Amino acid sequence: MAADHATAAEEEYLESLFWLFEAGLPMTGANLARAMQLSAPTVSEMLGRLERDGYIERGSHRAIEFTHSGREHAERIVSRHRMIERFLTDVVGVPWDDVHEEAEQLEHAMTPRFEAYVRASVGDAKTCPHGHPIRVGERIDGVPLADCATGAAVTILRFENEAEDLLHYLKDSGLEPGLTGRVDAKDDEQISVALEGGTATVTISVAETVSVLADPSPPPRTALPEQLVLGAQRYGR
Ligand SMILES: [Zn+2]
Ligand SMILES: [Zn+2]
Repeated sequence: MAADHATAAEEEYLESLFWLFEAGLPMTGANLARAMQLSAPTVSEMLGRLERDGYIERGSHRAIEFTHSGREHAERIVSRHRMIERFLTDVVGVPWDDVHEEAEQLEHAMTPRFEAYVRASVGDAKTCPHGHPIRVGERIDGVPLADCATGAAVTILRFENEAEDLLHYLKDSGLEPGLTGRVDAKDDEQISVALEGGTATVTISVAETVSVLADPSPPPRTALPEQLVLGAQRYGR
């Protein structure tokens, strides 16, 4: 039977598992260890606990699946995280490249009553400031910016990796979810998008983590976990 309350540590794991699931990446201990920058034995121990508490099941080849309760818990914490980020940018005035780490702390320490106030204060906001849907089923499929051809019209949908360093880099570049523009130039190293206010240039490896709608559109592709890892950083949620 599932426990009524997941611990903060369990919530962290459920959140990271959901991040893999939503991105279409295999839910395995190895991918989880990579995403959370933890050792394999640490992850394996916690997966055992999540299984005992009824949040996940492990099938053949160690593939992880959510139980009904695990999926519900994961969706609730992910939605709360995104709502808190939106609250921090829109109500408190925190820049969008600073809110992820703050939300990581706040999301485990919120009473249901305060959560209701926060939810009311963000109104009908659809996404977190990085483009992830607050109602978790409402994710729009995109393609990696890195795949788009020169001349393509693009709408920035989402930053898949919310590692703080990466968000600072993206903010400095001028890219932002919701902006539209046109791919201006592209080579093996970097890609430039002409936006209304100027041109944003990012490296191809960062462009792997930026989901866009494009016209003409490259074929759909899920970036591999390796492509979402930047340097030694964890690849965020
Ligand atoms: Zn976040
Ligand atoms: Zn976010």
